[in-house]
Amino acid sequence: MTRSTIYADYNATAPLHPTVQHTLQEALTLYGNASSIHEKGRAVRARIEAARAQIAAWVGASPERVVFTSGATEANNMALQGFKGPVIVSAGEHVSVRDVRTDAHICPLHPSGVVDLDALEAILKNTPEQPLVAIMAANSETGVIQPLQDIAQLCRRYRALWLCDAVQIAGKAPETWAQLKQVRPDFISLSAHKVGGPSGIGALIIPDGPPKIASLMKGGGQERYNRPGTENVLGILGFDAAIKSLSTKEWVSTQVHRNQLEKKIQDLCATAAIIPATTMRLHNTTILHMPGVPNMTQIMHFDLDGIYVSAGSACSSGKVHTSHVLRAMGYPDTVAKESIRISLGPQTTEHDIERIFTSWSRLFHKTRSKMTTEHTTLERQTA
Ligand code: PLP
Repeated sequence: MTRSTIYADYNATAPLHPTVQHTLQEALTLYGNASSIHEKGRAVRARIEAARAQIAAWVGASPERVVFTSGATEANNMALQGFKGPVIVSAGEHVSVRDVRTDAHICPLHPSGVVDLDALEAILKNTPEQPLVAIMAANSETGVIQPLQDIAQLCRRYRALWLCDAVQIAGKAPETWAQLKQVRPDFISLSAHKVGGPSGIGALIIPDGPPKIASLMKGGGQERYNRPGTENVLGILGFDAAIKSLSTKEWVSTQVHRNQLEKKIQDLCATAAIIPATTMRLHNTTILHMPGVPNMTQIMHFDLDGIYVSAGSACSSGKVHTSHVLRAMGYPDTVAKESIRISLGPQTTEHDIERIFTSWSRLFHKTRSKMTTEHTTLERQTA
């Protein structure tokens, strides 16, 4: 009998939506370079531009403000490297923002994970040249949502540009998304694979005004000279299909399951769920701390149970690093190294929550009894 598995790593990537699969299959038959003048080229161009228009409308920008990229990593790099002035980066940013400019001023976080606005204002006051502020909408590791309106106001007051990495709220957090559209950051980065689209496609949106950045690459006029190279047609059409298939309500309802899980686990270990329920955060995300158990052990334990979770800080090498986000929130390294991220999705069921809880508590009890035995042995030896 094949065992059913549970995917609880949606913040890393979401499964391809069935409609997207269908679109991609159909698009495989398309050929013709969108820059070619002939009919085949024009047909591909028309599909790309229709997708661009749809994605632009979704973000509330006009189509010419959408630059397709290979994902949010490239979009973030494009804004940060293309901007030649000073940059201010929040300490909790994704590495594709945090690690781009070595000269960045780092803006600290409060213990809640929310960016310290007083510190941001102090940095802005001391930055005479127009800076680019990079503060994400919601953190991929903790789910903490940033106060977009306050950030927008500060940026406006100090004439700073703002790059908002909106990868984790797109399609998932309708209220924050509405706020984002209202406050209109200067740059917005997006990624398709977080919402059921293919990986390897994303966009940098520049809602107002002409781009104020230099292109990362030269050698072609595509994407209005912002991103040369033949367009990723499959990716773009898949991205468009993912947006059309979005079911925001289902993402919001993941909160019920997330809260159930946190409650059950907190009843077992009061301090396990480390981001307080009162903090504004993504509906689907929780960070759980199991004292004394390295997160790698926890992930492998879950894996053996057919449950797929991650440490918030898994990087491309597959290794787990100590979370810079939890560190920036003031957690000691021990907590960061013993914490895992569980990110639920529209397909998560109550039964899945039961299984995740059972698996977590089994490891918890096992390690507790091992620790007690070791402790008693040590006490005997030192007595
Ligand atoms: N920004 C955030 C907040 C993310 O969660 C991710 C993906 O993990 C990225 C950027 C990078 O996106 P991509 O995989 O499209 O390069």
